[in-house]
Amino acid sequence: MGSIKLFGGIEGGGTKFNCIVGTSPDDIRREERFPTTTPDATLDKAIRFFQQAEADFGRLSALGIACFGPLDPLPASPTFGFILPTTKPHWSNFNVVGKMKSAFDIPIAFDTDVNGAAFGEWTWGAAVGLDIFIYLTIGTGIGGGGLVNGKLTHGLSHPEMGHIRIPHDTQRDPFEGVCPFHKDCFEGLASGPAIEKRWGQKGETLPPEHPAWDLEAHYIALALSNFILTLSPQRIIIGGGVSGQKFLFPQIRVQVKETLNKYVQSSAVGENIDKYIVPPALGNRSGVLGAIALAQSA
Ligand code: ADP
Ligand code: ZN
Repeated sequence: MGSIKLFGGIEGGGTKFNCIVGTSPDDIRREERFPTTTPDATLDKAIRFFQQAEADFGRLSALGIACFGPLDPLPASPTFGFILPTTKPHWSNFNVVGKMKSAFDIPIAFDTDVNGAAFGEWTWGAAVGLDIFIYLTIGTGIGGGGLVNGKLTHGLSHPEMGHIRIPHDTQRDPFEGVCPFHKDCFEGLASGPAIEKRWGQKGETLPPEHPAWDLEAHYIALALSNFILTLSPQRIIIGGGVSGQKFLFPQIRVQVKETLNKYVQSSAVGENIDKYIVPPALGNRSGVLGAIALAQSA
């Protein structure tokens, strides 16, 4: 017995943690979600979940953690596995991998939530077979990750695509932005909290015909155009709460075409753009399944 290797995955979000045990999207043995509180209390819950799963299903071979950042994803670094200084209370400089390692002496992979989701989509979803692509989340924050030639994007640290500067026409949109570091960067203008603060209500409750959405598509299209021109990705996957407004996708595609103005010579950003800017094929499970994929590669 025991020829099938079991893996644990954690998707660590700013508001909730999602833990699963399994081997693939078709073989999820157990799954649990709970709110993100302090690091010790939250990870103790995760530890208890995996200990119970091991008691029921057998030992885990490895653990993958796809977490909110900023964090240190570089295995050779002395602070590998740590959350880096963050405005999120209690989490700055917390050693996430160290805490999990104290309970499970198995290989542990650690990366950003978006690199994890990208890895999930590359393994089982909308990015299978691609050499270079981007996974973007638009939710409480905005973040981007991806793979280049089969490797997750790591360099100085990890990409921070949510904090690029995009043109901000203050005549059209006088809102000053919500980013604590840059005010009106992409995240500052287009994240869920930016929508809520600008319009006085949550994105979930704004009707499709509200002017919020034309502006939102405009900002997303400007950012995507910059990513397309910089990296030449073969696909862009957009997840996160705000992308739950599915009517945004056609609007974003039209505005990306307008912004690029036929400069990039590829049908992917022309007549085939419907297959180029897409929602995650794994739905809201890209992150947690990505954590399983990270564990498999650990
Ligand atoms: P998190 O970023 O914590 O992982 P989400 O991706 O769900 O969680 O992002 C939450 C943010 O997205 C909130 O600001 C919320 O108002 C917004 N949001 C969630 N669902 C929707 C929706 N269907 N339409 C528009 N905005 C949404
Ligand atoms: Zn910023």
